[in-house]
Amino acid sequence: MATLLSPLLIRGTEPVPLLEALGRVLAEDVVAPIDLPTFRNSQMDGYAVDTASLTAAPATLPVRAVLAAGDGVVAHVPGTATKIMTGAPLPTGADAVVPVEDTVPVEDTVPVEDTVPVEDTAAEGRGLRVTVCRLPEPGAYVRERGSDIHRGRTLLPAGTVVAARHVAALAAVGLTHVSVRTRPRVAVISTGSELVPGGSVLAPGKIHDSNGPALAASAAANGALVVSVDRSGDDAEVFAAKLARAAAVAEVVFTSGGVSKGDFEVVKDVLGPRGAEFVSVAMQPGGPQGTALVDSVPVLTFPGNPVSALVSFEVFARPVLRAAAGLPAVEPETRPLSTGLSSVPGKRQFLRARRDGGAVVAIPGAGSHLIAAMATADVLLDIPADTSDLEPGELVKVLPL
Ligand code: AMP
Ligand code: MG
Repeated sequence: MATLLSPLLIRGTEPVPLLEALGRVLAEDVVAPIDLPTFRNSQMDGYAVDTASLTAAPATLPVRAVLAAGDGVVAHVPGTATKIMTGAPLPTGADAVVPVEDTVPVEDTVPVEDTVPVEDTAAEGRGLRVTVCRLPEPGAYVRERGSDIHRGRTLLPAGTVVAARHVAALAAVGLTHVSVRTRPRVAVISTGSELVPGGSVLAPGKIHDSNGPALAASAAANGALVVSVDRSGDDAEVFAAKLARAAAVAEVVFTSGGVSKGDFEVVKDVLGPRGAEFVSVAMQPGGPQGTALVDSVPVLTFPGNPVSALVSFEVFARPVLRAAAGLPAVEPETRPLSTGLSSVPGKRQFLRARRDGGAVVAIPGAGSHLIAAMATADVLLDIPADTSDLEPGELVKVLPL
């Protein structure tokens, strides 16, 4: 199977807008095109000062200007203060910001003798003054240019799975697009003449197709691009036609159903004569498995029972899809069992279970049709074939779902 699916691992790259990059994998290092911060600015609402002339506190200084975020850079006059808002550029010559909390405004409006007029500033000519109550250290509350990242440095390495915080960093340096690894294209076909889509009235004997949506969701959740989700009755011609259509658009096709030992096994009937290999894997659920090539496109044929189909995906498809997408492998955990359990000897069992604090508890019910119970699981217990009875507290291998 590894060889069959190995072409999926050879991938190209594509540029995508930042928001579409969420969950995608960076194809190459992203280098910062600008410094962050891009200019020296204030970290607080307060007063920009120069510590060389401010040598004792309290000290009352004339306020020469009021700077808002978005204003341009002005020149600092030694011995004065500039009222400054968070994010406004520090006046050149100032080297510290005194937070508002460490100052007291001087309420009088007496013009200050030594105030040098600054054009277009709110404080000009109004004689505003401020008393600085505490001496700032040089550099206090100043965000230096490039102190977050310097232009030319690696902002995000190739292989990063893009999350909201990465979008923030990319947006901050002004990027609108980013180069990501292409996603493997997956098609899903569920088979069974009993299947109808959700939203349909269920005629006698019919059931809703859950494997189609389940396999499509599983593929999408593991880095794939789902290009087709189809359904076929147990009619060989119909299934063959749908398979050909799926193979025309996908890099891998997953089918469900029609691979057991019954009378209407459409997947076996169509793919058997075309060189498919059907095997019985010593695992439960998910024993009957098959592989085929249709027009050079690999096809994995999963059994139809809903739990079997999902477990088959986890065991056979998820690792390769994640590797193809560039996503990290899902690492198994080791946890103690909350309660004892027994497992069918001779077959590797994948039992539905739930994390329970640091431990794990099996979910009762072994039937492969129990899809509502499966929805309450968050892990599978991977119980080796030679294990039958497990005591509470015994350590088991746990595969996160
Ligand atoms: P099969 O593997 O085709 O023999 O199907 C085994 C069991 O799984 C039967 O009870 C089917 O009705 C059920 N089943 C097969 N395909 C689906 C599906 N897509 N959604 C829900 N149940 C299914
Ligand atoms: Mg069937």
